[in-house]
Amino acid sequence: MSRRKRYTADYVYANGAFQKDYALVEENGVIVDVGPADRVSAAFPDAERLDWEGKAIVPGTVNAHNHSFQSLLRGIAADKPFLEWREQSLYRYTPLLDEEAIYAGALLAFGEMIRYGVTTVSDFFYVHNGGTAYDEAVIQAAKDVGIRLVFARTMYDWSGAPAAYRETVAEAVERTRSLAVKYQGDSMVAVHPAPHSPHAASPEMIKAGHRLAMELDTPFHIHVAEEMFEVEETLRDYGLRPIHYLDSLGVLDERMIAIHLVWLEDSEVGLIGRRGGSLAYCPSSNMFLADGVTRIPDLMRAGVKVSLGTDGGCSNNRISVFEEMRMCALLQKVTRLDGTCLTAKDVFRMGTASGAEVLRLPIGSIEAGKAADFAALDIQDLSLAPKRELFANMVYAMQPGAIAHVVVGGRHVFRHGCLLTVTEQEISSRVDRLFDKWGDV
Ligand SMILES: [Zn+2]
Repeated sequence: MSRRKRYTADYVYANGAFQKDYALVEENGVIVDVGPADRVSAAFPDAERLDWEGKAIVPGTVNAHNHSFQSLLRGIAADKPFLEWREQSLYRYTPLLDEEAIYAGALLAFGEMIRYGVTTVSDFFYVHNGGTAYDEAVIQAAKDVGIRLVFARTMYDWSGAPAAYRETVAEAVERTRSLAVKYQGDSMVAVHPAPHSPHAASPEMIKAGHRLAMELDTPFHIHVAEEMFEVEETLRDYGLRPIHYLDSLGVLDERMIAIHLVWLEDSEVGLIGRRGGSLAYCPSSNMFLADGVTRIPDLMRAGVKVSLGTDGGCSNNRISVFEEMRMCALLQKVTRLDGTCLTAKDVFRMGTASGAEVLRLPIGSIEAGKAADFAALDIQDLSLAPKRELFANMVYAMQPGAIAHVVVGGRHVFRHGCLLTVTEQEISSRVDRLFDKWGDV
């Protein structure tokens, strides 16, 4: 039995523009056709019909960098310098995190993201606690909420970090590999290696993460040059700036998804471009932690693919990719004193199709063959008015309340303010129970 569904809406964002009176057809989680509603309806007369009047269907957004458990720690250690923030939120709470807490934190993060139109998240997860049970709790939460997950399994061996983060190179490789193999063939989960950063992963760990990415044929994720102290550390320890250091290890190539890239010199910008590396840019987090401003237009000119990430809930603190599109454009414009240096189209692409390219997933646009991951915006919402400028208003003005539906892999997961999978009430009571249990930390 065919379970095709045909969605019609006032507008569908396809081929780079809002198309009026369009329809799309979904089957087995994949878009099989998109085009003028009349033609598509005639081609698929038996499809179940969903008429989304007053709506505009847009691709689901791609969150290229998050740490789901950090949503539990939101608001804790706000307004502190980075190292104090890290100590008072992450390191202080890490010993309390059990499997239930990791699961609840991931439900909170992923459930909230769905409400904001995020349909894929890359979760850079490092609280392994000596195995993969916590990893599996995150993956289970993604499945329960119904979000598409890239599980960026962190490889971390810096002795200054909490014990729950640390593994030997052999343990990290073996556990990451076994998880990746287990989820091969699962269209909703991909596992990528993620050596944490030049300051929290040894050269051996970074090289092992890169080798494993080649073996699995995936990208790998790594934090690079978020804070100035990280540049000082690679200069002190290896005599090289971070990008030159990574290049000296032989890992700077088209598999690298570098996160942040705030403190780069010209030679590093050019080198990443030449090597085909990409960026997961987290503007709100960089602002909240006072990291600095990444040189986005320069990186784009150098050929670096740019995606957007929210980073963890306790440094963003909103975890919406539409929010990051707006923040990215505003921050770059004011820093460069140039209102033309990035456009609404540029940042929308970063949060959708470019995120898909960086993560190497068939998502990020509404076209035949791509996953059926999309959101429907209520075009009567006042934050989108006037409708004549729908695109610019979606990027610069839209509030989350305008998001009326979210579909991921053909599954309807959000409708008119309510998650259809795990309820908001269940998520918030799980979080409340944890804080009751923890008492005063
Ligand atoms: Zn991060």
